[in-house]
Amino acid sequence: MQNFVTTGREEPLKEDVSRRIHTFEEIYEFFNNRVVARQADRCVQCGDPFCTTNGCPLQNYIPQWLEAIAEKDLEKAFLLSNETSPFPEILGRICPHNRVCEGACTLDDGYGAITIGAIEASITDLAFKAGYRLPFPGITREQRVAVIGSGPAGMSCAHFLLRAGIKVDMFERADIPGGLLAYGIPGFKLDKWTVSHRFEILQQAGLTLHLDTAVGVDVSFADLRRDYDAIFLGIGATNGKLPGIPGEDHEQVFLAMEFLTSVQRRLAGKSWMERFSVRGKRVVVVGGGDTAMDCVRSAVREGAASVVCLYRRDADNMPGSAKEFHNAMEEGVDFMFFEAPQKIDINKDGDIVGVDAIRTELAEPGPDGRRRVKTVPGSEHCVATDVVIMALGFDQEPHPFLTENGITMEQWGNIAIDNTTGETSLPGIYAGGDCQRGADLAVTAAADGRRAAFGIMQQLLG
Ligand SMILES: Cc1cc2nc3c(=O)[nH]c(=O)nc-3n(C[C@H](O)[C@H](O)[C@H](O)COP(=O)(O)OP(=O)(O)OC[C@H]3O[C@@H](n4cnc5c(N)ncnc54)[C@H](O)[C@@H]3O)c2cc1C
Ligand code: SF4
Repeated sequence: MQNFVTTGREEPLKEDVSRRIHTFEEIYEFFNNRVVARQADRCVQCGDPFCTTNGCPLQNYIPQWLEAIAEKDLEKAFLLSNETSPFPEILGRICPHNRVCEGACTLDDGYGAITIGAIEASITDLAFKAGYRLPFPGITREQRVAVIGSGPAGMSCAHFLLRAGIKVDMFERADIPGGLLAYGIPGFKLDKWTVSHRFEILQQAGLTLHLDTAVGVDVSFADLRRDYDAIFLGIGATNGKLPGIPGEDHEQVFLAMEFLTSVQRRLAGKSWMERFSVRGKRVVVVGGGDTAMDCVRSAVREGAASVVCLYRRDADNMPGSAKEFHNAMEEGVDFMFFEAPQKIDINKDGDIVGVDAIRTELAEPGPDGRRRVKTVPGSEHCVATDVVIMALGFDQEPHPFLTENGITMEQWGNIAIDNTTGETSLPGIYAGGDCQRGADLAVTAAADGRRAAFGIMQQLLG
């Protein structure tokens, strides 16, 4: 270990830009056995590993699995990595590592952080390829739990309950499982097989999936309360936000998830909507987070004539992953920083011709410490476009069954919980992920799902 002086940080190989912009296939080729051991061998094995204690929302055993793989013990690294994380090969691909584990790594200051994300994805990929399987006991208990929503929060809760031998039924209103991992995050970041493979594992472990089943519509919440010993709510925050500007109801103004879902449904051979096609069109995407990066990069692959990202702060203040911003730049996306949309410009034929925008600048920090934005008077101008995609974040979707059953909600419609157990105000009903914390990350949703699984186990098994 501690080879960081002689061995530099290596990134996984990336598909050449000229080829990757024509496909939705993953752009990274993760490490082979030799490279993964060499990169892990750089780790200092810190006494207080900030990667875990400060960086990782799951508090993964990062130094331990780095040491195991540096010693070429793939099985041990695989088991350690899967001990705390319900899907390390997924989070190794999509976590904003610069903001979590790698951003907290001691070596990030000068030598280059350990490539924790790529090593994490590589370990589980290599182990599955080598034939290693995760140990699940089978259903050994009489208790049954219903999980509503199949995104990272629901997947994680189900994973840890199944590991304790508890039967899990999962209810998902979509036609495929995975939540935003399925129809939100595109294949160039997360291969769809990786998600469906995790569901195969969960189903082999005893999960029963009920797809096309919306709770509150196709099955009542009261019936689930009667039939199950506990319920986990992992129903996400799915209502796309609009800026509230004139012209935003034009049919060529899309919400990010309308566009991404339509593209991914077509790629999956399912029904999709021609209205969301951007082939040959000029596209402006408004927003600067992960969702905006997925939209701009999808629009490039869909054959847009040009793609511009309009963001009201600058690159240093973008909320998403720095890696994905750089990938978007490489793929030819034009970034216009310090810009806020004011109005959609529509000509007399009813077609969009541009977005009227105004320049912005950073102002004093708000209560969250983040610098606010103010507009610069007199700086209005038009950015020419045919299509506008709004990627401005998500609000909670009102689910009447929550309030009808007396579940307490917080400000902004987030479900209120006990922070230790994840239990809501209704005994036996737990919640986590975006529906409880607001739109955030897959890894925080996974941590919430795990917390609730432990809360449920405490309640059911003592
Ligand atoms: C485009 C996009 C890109 C992103 N990129 C990243 C990234 O790179 N890295 C990252 O860490 N995070 C990313 N995120 C955020 C991340 O995907 C979410 O934070 C995470 O998926 C939240 O998980 P969840 O399980 O709480 O909710 P979701 O993933 O939203 O899953 C909720 C599920 O509940 C289902 N559901 C809702 N109501 C019902 C009901 N009544 N009955 C049955 N089912 C129901 C929904 O259909 C959905 O499948 C991205 C988000 C988007 C939109
Ligand atoms: S902080 Fe970096 S160097 Fe230290 S244990 Fe974690 S990965 Fe290794």
